[in-house]
Order: sequence, then C-alpha cells, then structure tokens
Amino acid sequence: MKNDWTVEDADKAYNVSKWGAGYFEINEEGNLSVLPQKSRSKQKIVISDVIEEIKSQGVQFPVVLRFHDILRAQVKLLNKTFRDTIEDASYEGKFFGVYPVKVNQMREVVEEIVDAGSKYNFGLEAGSKAELIAVLAYNTNKDSLTVLNGYKDEEYLKLALLGRKLNRKMLIVVEKFTELTKIIRLAKELNVQPLIGIRAKMTVKGKGKWESSGGERAKFGLSISEILLAVNLLRENDLLDSLKLFHFHIGSQITDIRAIKDAIAEGSRIYCKLAKLGVPLEYFDVGGGLGVDYDGTGSTNDSSINYQIEEYVADIVYGLKQVCDLEDVDHPNIITESGRAITAHHSCVITNIIGEIDNTNVDFDTKKTTGEHILVSNMRELDEELDKYRNWQEAYNDASKLKEDALNAFSLGILSLEERAKIETIYWKVLKKVSSLVSKEDYVHDTALDLEDYLAGQYLCNFSVFQSAADSWAIDQLLPVVPIAKLDERPEKRVSLVDITCDSDGKIDKFIDMETGVKKTIPLHDLASGEDYYLGIFLTGAYQDVMGDMHNLFGRLTEVHVYAHEDDPKGFYIEEIIKGTSAAQVLSTMQYNPQFMAFTVKKAIDHQVSRGLINPREGVGLTDFYEDCLKGYTYLKM
Ligand SMILES: *Cc1c(COP(=O)(O)O)cnc(C)c1O
Repeated sequence: MKNDWTVEDADKAYNVSKWGAGYFEINEEGNLSVLPQKSRSKQKIVISDVIEEIKSQGVQFPVVLRFHDILRAQVKLLNKTFRDTIEDASYEGKFFGVYPVKVNQMREVVEEIVDAGSKYNFGLEAGSKAELIAVLAYNTNKDSLTVLNGYKDEEYLKLALLGRKLNRKMLIVVEKFTELTKIIRLAKELNVQPLIGIRAKMTVKGKGKWESSGGERAKFGLSISEILLAVNLLRENDLLDSLKLFHFHIGSQITDIRAIKDAIAEGSRIYCKLAKLGVPLEYFDVGGGLGVDYDGTGSTNDSSINYQIEEYVADIVYGLKQVCDLEDVDHPNIITESGRAITAHHSCVITNIIGEIDNTNVDFDTKKTTGEHILVSNMRELDEELDKYRNWQEAYNDASKLKEDALNAFSLGILSLEERAKIETIYWKVLKKVSSLVSKEDYVHDTALDLEDYLAGQYLCNFSVFQSAADSWAIDQLLPVVPIAKLDERPEKRVSLVDITCDSDGKIDKFIDMETGVKKTIPLHDLASGEDYYLGIFLTGAYQDVMGDMHNLFGRLTEVHVYAHEDDPKGFYIEEIIKGTSAAQVLSTMQYNPQFMAFTVKKAIDHQVSRGLINPREGVGLTDFYEDCLKGYTYLKM
C-alpha cells in the first residue's frame, strides 16, 4: 500500500513548493529539506538530520530552528531586486532599505541582517525608545539610515539627536504634529541639525488584516493640512532644510498589489507637490507591507499575496519615476521598511506529538445484554442495518436523534452509565460509516465536510500557540504545518492540532487546502508506538518569534542556529544552541523567588523525614528532583 503515495502527492497536500519560496522542498526520501540558497546551489539541509543531531546532544523539544542563511538571502534578494530594477529603469535615486526591528528584535537576527546588508547600506528602523536604544548600538554604518517611527517623548528624540552627534543618519519621522515642536526646541538646545521625515495619512488603505494602518482614520501620520502647517513651522524656524523624508505605511501583509500601486500613485503626487513648494525632500519611504505567501495560493487571501517581490519593486520604482518625470521633480532615494518579507522564512518551530485525543474510537463492549434499554437496541439495529438506508443523510439524522434521546433519558435517570457508554460508542461507529459512504460520492456536500471535521481526532503537540504562533490565535493567521519525515507515505488520517496549554483556544485548526482554501484538519500519519513524530510550523520568523506570551508559564523555546556548510557531510553545522526559558526563570518574571521556593519545599520534606514519614534517602531524592524541575524546561519532557 505504501507506494500509492508519492512525494509529489505530499507536496500537493502541504503545498510546500508554493509557500516554500524556493527555500523548502520535500526530498526524494520523503524528508522535508531546506535549500538555504534556493536552487542557486545544490546545498540541502535535511531537517530530520538537524533533529537527530540536537537529540544526540540531549536537547528537549519543542525548538526553534533558525536558518541564518535564509535571512541573509532575503536581505540580498530585496536589495538586489531594487538595484537591478533601478538600473533597468534608469531611475536616478538610490535604494536605502531599513529593517524594522519590531518584526523580530532578537539580537542574532538584527546582527545577521546588519551584516548581510552592510554592502548595500541597509539600515534599521525603530518604533519605540527601547528599539532605538538597540538600533543606536547596532546600526553603526555611517552610510545606512536609521528611520525612527512610533510616538516619541523627549527622551526618544534626545536619543535620536545623540545619534546625529555621532554622525549617523537618524531620520525622525513625525507621526503627530506636537512632536515637531519638541524636535525644533531640542535641536536648538542640543545644537544639532535634525533629519526630519513626515508620515502622511493616506486615503489609500492597504488590503488585508492591517488595512486600518492606512486611511483617513489611521492612528499615525499627518493630514495634508497638517503637513502644510509643518512645512511653515519648519520654515519659520529656519529648519526646512531638515525636512528630508516623506513617509507612509498603509499596513502589513498587503495582499493585493493594487493597493501598492494606488499608494505609490497618491504618495508620489504628494511628494512632488511638496518638492515644488521648495521642501528639499530626498527620501521617499513606502513603509512595510511587502507580504508573505503563507498558504502558497498566490491570491488575495488574508494569508497570501497576489504578487512577487519583483512586481512589488517594479511598481514602486516605475510608479515613482513616472510621476516625478511628469511633475519635473528629481527622483528621490527610495526606502522600504520590509520586515515580514525579510524574516518570515528563516525560522520554524519543531514540535513533537505527544498523543492523540479521539473520543470516537473507544474500544467499549457494546454486546447485547438482557433487559437493556430500547434506545440501546435501536442504536445497535441502526448500525447493523445501515446498508439498508437509501440515503446516508437519513441514517445520520436517525443516529443523531437517537443520541439526543439517549442524553435526555440519561438526565432523567432512565439510562445507566453503561447504557449511555454503549449508545455513544455505537453512535461514533455509525457516523464513521456514514462519513466513509459520503466520501465515496462524487459531489462533496458541505455536511460531508462538517462530518469529516466532527469525527477528526486531535494530535496533542508539545508547544504553546500563545508562545510560538500568537497570530494563529489572535488574528486567524494561517501558518504552514508539515510533518518533517515520512512524506513518501500516505498520511492516513485527518486531525486538528491542540497545544499543551489549559486553554481551549490553544489549538491550530486552519490548514492549507488547495481545493477549499482552508481546512480545519490536516492529513497526518498514524502515530507508531516507540517512534517520535515531528511537525514543523513554518514561516514563524516574522512577529511569531517575538510576540508570544507566557500563558500557563510556558516560556521561550530553545533556539538552534543552523548554518549551511558545503564541506560538511550533512551540509550544515549548528553554530549555537540557546537553552529555552527554565521554570525558575519564568517564575522569576512573575515575582517568585525560586531559591525561597526550593528552601520551603526542602523544609517540608525534611519535616516529613523527621517524623519518619519519608525515609532520608528518598527525602534527598525528592529535594533534588524539585530543584531539577525548577532548572528544567517548561515544556513536556518526552
Ligand atoms: C510594522 C511596520 C513595518 C513593518 O511592516 P512589514 O509588513 O512587516 O514589512 C514597517 N513600517 C512601519 C511604520 C511599521 O509600523
């Protein structure tokens, strides 16, 4: 039976080659592999090999795998695409991209991006005081930009001006008119020339979940009348020379390329009109929004995009050029603040399945007993005579009615526990038969799909949605989920996934399905006893990596930093393993004192030892055990 399923079938089922963007594929042996250089090099890293290696080092799951090569490749892709397009278009400005650190503030991520971007003068963007503090220390390239967004207090502005004293290109983007008066005052006090940008409230809205970032009711930015007042105010204060940048950001994950075209059309007009008023603008900043095709459908689904990076870049460069040429204004330098597109692909979460929850599959004896209630006999007969039904819908209705009657009878004290158990056991059996009858019919009815979801089991995964896939819970973001191995074998069942938090929201029940768009269940293999089964949750490098919380005190994951290496027989080496948060660390953030706790428990154990209720050797063992658990990982040890 094994060869009725090929790796091509697996690729279709999980859509790997579409969302994988050239970085992920299923190899001939049915293992999920990473191509850190896309197809430019033959290099492949088999994820199972990485798992084997970290297991041999005693690392517990779940883990985050970080592929730094992908991060570097994405930085290069964005910069090269802009450079090439600018050249092809004979565009006269340059590209000065910045990475918005809020998308993934991990030091290793920021360092890698800065390093990979240094030859392109790729800069950083900060949206808060703490982010600026980090950026000041890490963006040391004098030719790259630092763009400062978000609401700003005096300290934030002073930090920015401190950067100016260090000769850095700190562009303070005014989000709110009152920030401008503060900048003017502080610049005079500190005697530095600020570099100022203005964020415009655009009429155009992004398309997708984040469209409220744009539009007239957006939280950030100045209206056209405010922009004109700002120009006057700067002129009066002899600071018009400082106004260098025009900025907008119409939202993250823009799903429809038309929104980008519209924004460029509107934004470039405003830019040109301001330039013609004598504002010495030099930079045109289109913000973030370059999306990621999470479901691989190439559509305007919330989790997809209907364009490629080349089209995005061309629309910006050619769109801007056209309007500038018509208005007879010099081509500005172009800034993008792409975070999601740079980081999403480079990390994934690997979790192990701990077990299955399936109440439809309990092996309970349903044999006929004398004097049993008529409802039990009826349900059994329904099962035995199922093939006499001409219509499966009728069988389904009858079974449902019998089960409902049984529950009522039980509440009234008419049915025994055993009788109720029998009825439920047969009921699930009937539904499964009905479901298999239905799926044989050509036309897939909605009820049939519902039945499939209703009967599906749940796989219990060793991770927390709230820590590792926050957007899946918060905004219904779809993330690709794929088994790491066995992809050359048919996945026998459809299940949904639940996490180990005590929260019924702790689940993933949205999966890629090429036929229906989204499905509540995912095809996975049966769990074989004694065999580990690993799932990867992919494209978690943007936002998911850093937005998680400690619901149920599940802490940060152990991180494994993987680099491609040609001379290595397996094609990779692990540069670093950073241990995930321990129970003691998580508890400390909630104001607990782990030392005190260990002491208290030890005292209680000692007390029982002194009373002779625990023997001394066992007492020492229990004390050590408690302390080891404090030092240990917060996830399940399997
Ligand atoms: C969040 C944000 C970004 C990043 O957007 P992506 O869609 O992740 O590229 C860029 N600029 C601003 C102002 C933002 O708020």
